[in-house]
Amino acid sequence: MGALIVLTGPSGVGKGTLLRSLIQRHSELYLSISVTTRSPRPGEVDGKNYYFVSRSAFERMVANGELLEWAEFAGNLYGTPRQAVEEHIRDGRRIILEIELQGARQIRKNFPDALQIFILPPSLLELEYRIRSRAQDSEEAITRRLQRARTEIAAADEFDICIVNDDFAKALDRIETTLFAAAAC
Ligand code: 5GP
Repeated sequence: MGALIVLTGPSGVGKGTLLRSLIQRHSELYLSISVTTRSPRPGEVDGKNYYFVSRSAFERMVANGELLEWAEFAGNLYGTPRQAVEEHIRDGRRIILEIELQGARQIRKNFPDALQIFILPPSLLELEYRIRSRAQDSEEAITRRLQRARTEIAAADEFDICIVNDDFAKALDRIETTLFAAAAC
């Protein structure tokens, strides 16, 4: 079983919350910290939630080959720093990338053994409600995120496993079962 785990799903589906609980329960799992040109949301901390960088710094990282994958999402750039992931894999640790569809596709091409999990909302309406109740994005950003969500959901069947986040505890349980049952094979 590959050491690399990819978790994808539309913005607002609850990937981040699921992952935080997963990591709390399983300290042997590591979460990759992405680089982004997006501005921090209230409460987000540089170096913990993301590395927040300027567009020119991001572009330098791309040019220097420092990112394992990267993509543009809702007008901002997001990417996975290569070095940390390679170090975790080399040292035999399992590392999780929480990334969007284009990045997941790049990883699939370069790391065919990576386990790819897709998190689905119970419905598009519920997703819109969750994005709006987060109340951290502008109306324009919400519209872009919802458009993008439709594209991402249409690609869910490319993934090894799809999990519906209808009930948080059950979804977490399904992710754990997937990760640990797969590891036992
Ligand atoms: P947000 O702005 O809501 O934190 O993230 C927007 C989207 O970017 C989410 O779907 C998230 O999974 C994705 N994302 C976060 N980091 C990365 C990354 O390093 N690479 C890619 N391709 N997507 C990312």
